[in-house]
Amino acid sequence: MNRRLYGQLIFELSHPGRKGVKVPDNGVEFAVDIPSALMRETPLDLPEVDEPTVARHYNNLSTNNFGVDTGFYPLGSCTMKYNPKINEEIASHRDFRDLHPLQPSWSVQGALEAYYTLQEALSEVGGMAEFSLNPYAGAQGELTGLFVIKAYHESRRDYARDKVLIPDSAHGTNPASAALAGYKIVEVKSLPDGTVDTDDLLSKLDDTVAAMMMTNPNTVGIFERNIPAIAEAVHGVGALMYYDGANLNPLLGVARPGDMGFDVMHINLHKTFSTPHGGGGPGSGPVGVRDGLQQFLPMPKVVKSAEGSYEVVTDAATSLGSVSHWLGNFAVELRALAYILSLGADGLMEVGKLSTLNANYIKERLKDLYLLPIDGLCKHEMVFDGLADKSTGVTTLNVAKRLLDMGYHAPTIYFPLLFHESLMIEPTETESLETIDAFIDAMRRIAIEAKESPEMVKDAPHDTPISHPDDTAAAISPVTTYRQWLAANEPS
Ligand SMILES: *Cc1c(COP(=O)(O)O)cnc(C)c1O
Repeated sequence: MNRRLYGQLIFELSHPGRKGVKVPDNGVEFAVDIPSALMRETPLDLPEVDEPTVARHYNNLSTNNFGVDTGFYPLGSCTMKYNPKINEEIASHRDFRDLHPLQPSWSVQGALEAYYTLQEALSEVGGMAEFSLNPYAGAQGELTGLFVIKAYHESRRDYARDKVLIPDSAHGTNPASAALAGYKIVEVKSLPDGTVDTDDLLSKLDDTVAAMMMTNPNTVGIFERNIPAIAEAVHGVGALMYYDGANLNPLLGVARPGDMGFDVMHINLHKTFSTPHGGGGPGSGPVGVRDGLQQFLPMPKVVKSAEGSYEVVTDAATSLGSVSHWLGNFAVELRALAYILSLGADGLMEVGKLSTLNANYIKERLKDLYLLPIDGLCKHEMVFDGLADKSTGVTTLNVAKRLLDMGYHAPTIYFPLLFHESLMIEPTETESLETIDAFIDAMRRIAIEAKESPEMVKDAPHDTPISHPDDTAAAISPVTTYRQWLAANEPS
């Protein structure tokens, strides 16, 4: 750990008797007799620090953070687009923030209208009949969608379907969700161009298949042109088509999964519709269904009466039940609605085009120095298979770490698993030409450095507070508390 940049731990700044606050004695007698067995015998070991020390400590720590507000964050498959500040203002407005989820409907008509408007807007964007905003994340949206599919088959007394087909390029949450929903996973191969091998798919289709899960554009950033034929074959054996719409960016305003033949889908509001995310939250993964499947969606939901008032409906005979505490992650839903309404239909149309243009621009300007395994038009992201010149031994990991020295967040690396040295870049639509050009220059410079001084690139990063953490040790025995850290750093 670099002490200069990282500062000290707050515990190490402690001095006995120092205080940041002074609480006057309020003269109230302690009214409850706590059994002595439940009382501490030694005082709590808390840091004793004055206010300036605390303020400086945490402000300095915060400057070691990297976010989309501090720099370009081209993390493929994660859509780290800029989050407009108006979204934050709306989500934290006291008229939304201070509501209680169980307030009577008549007292929260505005909030319910916002919620209902988003349900409708997402149905329009996805080409679906209805959306449930309940799931808290993409993965939970997948699981909920698979439960909808299960409920649909069971409603038809069709109990023999125990498999879900998933392409080998899929995001890891797809097989995880299918397994959690009780299905066996059958992998479908990809062709050299990254798209689904239709012959392999057809050979695995029969009446024991419950669904086919697909991502389009797939995780390599390539648009699957065979969707209508695939959908026809899948529907032909009575199975349903599931669309992983975590990253809907490239389709916004251009194409709709519902029109392609998908029956069930989820959208990650925290990727496509801009919400600060990462590190496990917050998120929202609404799930949408085509006409004929609405009755299986989870509850509660918001409905609009003929007179124009809004109500929360909590149960329905055929619903699969509840998947969240109440209506889902309301603050994230508000941000998504703010983003949709502030862009408007015309603005949303530009998102798909611009995110695709930006990705292709980067791809074309880097493909002489980085190995592009799948050439041709990509959508919102592209995957390189490491440096074109592999003779220097500089890997994708080294390139990613060297980018940190240059002030960029690293792209996604070693995913998808189709290539050994995957480097997946997603610029999004929110970056200017200057930002993208500067990033391209940095990537080109690294490729040249890799030839001229490969050891320097392999030793990167040189300028970050932490340079080479032991990933394996961190995963096996993470140090998450001060006491653990002390124990690990005590001279033996
Ligand atoms: C991010 C992502 C998911 C999972 O979403 P979470 O909100 O992280 O659970 C699923 N599929 C794809 C393609 C993704 O990019």
